Amino acid sequence: MAIKIDAPLQASSVSDHGGILDTALAQLEIAFDRLGINEGVREIIRQPEREMTVAVPILRDDGTISVYTGYRVQHSSARGPCKGGLRFHPNVNLDEVRALALLMTFKCAVANLPFGGAKGGIEVSPSELSEMELERLTRRYAAMILPIIGSRRDIAAPDVNTNPKIMAWFMDTVSTLSGHMVPEIVTGKPIALGGSTGRVDATGRGVAIATIEILRRLGKDPPGLHVAVQGYGNVGRNAANILADEYGCTIVAISDVSGGIYNSLGLDLPAINEYVSHSRGGLLSGFSEKGEADEINNDELLTLDVDILIPAALESQITVGNSGQIRASVIVEGANGPTTFEADRILYERGIMVVPDILANAGGVTCSYFEWVQDLQFYFWGLEEIRQQLHKVISKAFEEVWLVANERNIDMRSAAYLLALERITNAIQQRGLFP
Ligand code: NAD
Repeated sequence: MAIKIDAPLQASSVSDHGGILDTALAQLEIAFDRLGINEGVREIIRQPEREMTVAVPILRDDGTISVYTGYRVQHSSARGPCKGGLRFHPNVNLDEVRALALLMTFKCAVANLPFGGAKGGIEVSPSELSEMELERLTRRYAAMILPIIGSRRDIAAPDVNTNPKIMAWFMDTVSTLSGHMVPEIVTGKPIALGGSTGRVDATGRGVAIATIEILRRLGKDPPGLHVAVQGYGNVGRNAANILADEYGCTIVAISDVSGGIYNSLGLDLPAINEYVSHSRGGLLSGFSEKGEADEINNDELLTLDVDILIPAALESQITVGNSGQIRASVIVEGANGPTTFEADRILYERGIMVVPDILANAGGVTCSYFEWVQDLQFYFWGLEEIRQQLHKVISKAFEEVWLVANERNIDMRSAAYLLALERITNAIQQRGLFP
């Protein structure tokens, strides 16, 4: 069954040039109006509860000192401890971290996890640091934000350019300063330190589950459908491989920061995985020289004639500039905020179905929730159980969003925001204000 959708409402003060924070706030204002939320509660939700900016000094390998700016933003703890990843990227800034923290609050509420939202980041290009420098940066940052984090206050996780090894350093620093091991302070850790099975591919698996859910409702059979994936990192790579291996989809294009590759008959993912396991920087660059795929750039990938497009790289990739040329009929957002507010409107007008980030990529935080629960209980689950539970949470969230979209005749992003906002507002109102 296809749903009929209303045009997303206009938010008065947002343009395509606004960043991810403008987009998130614009979406929020629409949800406020639709639910008739009172001004006091709007004010609470618009702003982060707490923000910390830290100047993180590290000793470089050559004996000099460098200082990096880091942030931790806790958007809301109304529904539980704040939860959110840690990003290392030269473009990290306070507004971006605020937006990503807000998205985490809404994502946790869509999946109905007992968490609020947070995000952290350091403005750094990690490839310019040695491994020892990266470790010192992670440890010093963890120590500097320690006053506001905690396993029942704010729990970190990996995001762009951070990984299980960095989570281990983070956890070890907090544990050393606490005088005892605190595995539940971060998720996405190595399994030997209390990490969860299934966490590494959980976000991509959630994206794949969301893709199958939307296809089922649109009456499309997954085997043979053509898929293009922007960003062959943790999220994109796992989503692509799971869709191909477990659901029979044909992945015709993938890309990373070095460019993209395309084969209309389907890419040989095992050969590509083998290639990137040895290539410089783990990048796709050079693969097309084997003659099994054509080289394309990232702009071409987004506008390919495919059934499903999965943007899984960075924010603001689908814009006013390219949304008119997109030919996929379904977009499943693996990345956070890949579609600008104005582009979203254009996609709607063109009848393109968008499964929004706060639903589609909630698999990662869902498995992080499982990891946190396992750490608190000192009892660990098997991979099958993790996968079953993950499937249950994502497909239930999908169904709930779908129902709201149908009942109100609205698009899925607006429906996801409404569902989440209702849950967040209920928590705020039932807790009441202290003092
Ligand atoms: P990652 O660093 O593992 O992968 C990012 C990929 O995008 C890499 O292949 C990189 O080369 C590529 N890329 C970077 N810039 C690009 C560009 N301009 N064009 C095309 N490709 C480009 O990061 P990730 O963990 O896979 O995260 C990707 C997105 O998913 C981010 O928006 C992140 O916030 C979001 N996300 C990640 C998780 C998670 O569990 N890792 C969970 C939820 C959301």
